[in-house]
Amino acid sequence: MLTNVDFTSGKMLLRNARTLDVAGGKLLDASNVLIDGGKVVDIDAASAPPSDADVFDLGGLTLSPGLIDTHVHILSPYLTEQKGVPGMWTFKQMDRNCENTLAAGIVCVVDMLSPIKVLRRQRKKISAGKVNGPDVMMSGGIFSCQGGYPEAINPVPKAVGALVGQPKYQPQSPDEAAKLVNYLHGLGATVIKVGYTRLSRQLVDGRSLPAISDEVLTGVCDAAHALGLKVRVHHNWSEDMLHLVDFKIDALEHGVYDRNLLDDEIMALKNHGASVIPTLTINDSQGRFEEKLGFLRSERAQEYFEPQALEHLLWVCSTWTKFQGESYDGSFGYTRANRYCYEIEYRNTRKLFEAGVKLYAGTDCGAVVAYPGELADEILRLTSIGMTNAQALRAATNEAAEFIGRPDLGEVAPGKTAHLAVFEGNPMEDLSALRRVRYVMKSGRLMKTSHDELPEFWQGFTVLAPN
Ligand SMILES: [Zn+2]
Repeated sequence: MLTNVDFTSGKMLLRNARTLDVAGGKLLDASNVLIDGGKVVDIDAASAPPSDADVFDLGGLTLSPGLIDTHVHILSPYLTEQKGVPGMWTFKQMDRNCENTLAAGIVCVVDMLSPIKVLRRQRKKISAGKVNGPDVMMSGGIFSCQGGYPEAINPVPKAVGALVGQPKYQPQSPDEAAKLVNYLHGLGATVIKVGYTRLSRQLVDGRSLPAISDEVLTGVCDAAHALGLKVRVHHNWSEDMLHLVDFKIDALEHGVYDRNLLDDEIMALKNHGASVIPTLTINDSQGRFEEKLGFLRSERAQEYFEPQALEHLLWVCSTWTKFQGESYDGSFGYTRANRYCYEIEYRNTRKLFEAGVKLYAGTDCGAVVAYPGELADEILRLTSIGMTNAQALRAATNEAAEFIGRPDLGEVAPGKTAHLAVFEGNPMEDLSALRRVRYVMKSGRLMKTSHDELPEFWQGFTVLAPN
């Protein structure tokens, strides 16, 4: 939760701030940082403030660019299946997701599926100051085909879709795909998401799922690129990855977890040039969700979730390793409670990084088993596959900002938007500093966090599974 630090003018001198220079990989000596009109003006200002400026002493805390989560589902009510029209509480849950995300020092997210008109309404609430939340970039509904991934999500009736937007689009031709891309772009989408998973999530049942046709996928890419939008593709399976490198996609979401990729397969992706958002957090969480029960039973969880959401999550979590007759099996399939899948994905991601494939930080927060604030753990996971602290921080700050088309974010530097986070400690040396968020600044508005530390999502367990 956040409370405003009360100031009268739009101009503020932050005294005694140690600026985190993510590009240079270092924490600078304490200085005075001047914010004006929602922008950073000077990071080494005179200690005497301009006469019309408020002054706030940060006492040597770390002034960091606010973090960016490049893959979330910010409107998630944490249900495992799509069931009818959600209740009023789901809107309150969306507000909580937004507030807890910002309170974790995350100033910008990319929502990768939510119905676009609901997202637009939520963005308006945030920009009008009715809800605290990050900037929300968005894809709108996922492009797939009838029966294709995500199988548990279907287009809603047309009249409802016109009102709120669709969670899923099933274009039959390149023309229809181009129209939908244009429609979403017109409503503010900056990225197009495609779901592409041909193998059944049950892995062992030998079924294959229908997927968007080659022709339609090409149509999506062409239409998106003509408008300057990136195409980001959900995938999980080696066969799909090897097929997808034949298309002009921009990024792959998640990772391959059916088998270890061979060196020439890693190179095929490297040579293609697509980026990867491995979302290790969600895959680790699917592998051992039962270990989050402590968090879900904690007081902090009551701040995170509406009672209806929490009740459902507690049920899912407590039955995670019981496979008899649980209906959410279809949502998670073979990865549910399967640490082996995560270990494979983790190894593949490490190889991609070593080969020089560009990776960005994304949690998939909202996808039932991962929550706002776990980005700090995702950054830690990125170091476990070989990144330095500075590299992992860049994957969630300046480099992520470029990737999502927000070059005004990601650094504390003159001219940048004043979307900042204040941490206790130096994350270049110890990433646990990212768990200690003291203040957040959104467009120059300073807010104090009500907790000294993020919740412990893995109470009694460690963040990192494999070695
Ligand atoms: Zn996702």
